[in-house]
Amino acid sequence: MTPRPAAPPPLTVLQSLVNTRELLENRDDFTAPTGLLAWSEAQGLPCPARPSEADLTRMSRVREALRQLLHGGEGAPAAAAVLNGELARTGTRPLLQAGPPGAEFVGDGATALDTAITRVLATLVTARLDGSLARLKICGAEDCLWAYYDRSPNAVSRWCETSVCGARHKMRAYRARRAAATTS
Ligand SMILES: [Zn+2]
Repeated sequence: MTPRPAAPPPLTVLQSLVNTRELLENRDDFTAPTGLLAWSEAQGLPCPARPSEADLTRMSRVREALRQLLHGGEGAPAAAAVLNGELARTGTRPLLQAGPPGAEFVGDGATALDTAITRVLATLVTARLDGSLARLKICGAEDCLWAYYDRSPNAVSRWCETSVCGARHKMRAYRARRAAATTS
């Protein structure tokens, strides 16, 4: 089984953030400061030298709101509210630059985490507006919720891996039908 290829940049940062927690494996990289440091470094994002418990909680909250927003459904408005709250809280503003990198987010008193969250949310806002976010999806299996990039022709896939979560879904549906057939 070949896993789906990663989302193209700049969506990579959103996908990798959501997938710092893997429900099926009971893994969460943000339970320890080293996990947040490693993820930030890999994504080229600033991070406090010693992330506090509050930093970990805040980043985990952003992550789960992002997962919920991408997943859609009933929880999406609350997730959008959390992310809008973060946009307002970071106190950063965009600053265009004549030379590379072209633009940056700056803010008086903005912490490293404020800047990192601003950059993540700027990617999210841009991808929502240009439509590129539509292919970044959350697996339809409620115990998986992995973020994957849908490269199928009409963007109609529902599972992170059809051979894994799609197959598990089929098996559950099959068992339910069989149970219904034996009780009726
Ligand atoms: Zn899945």
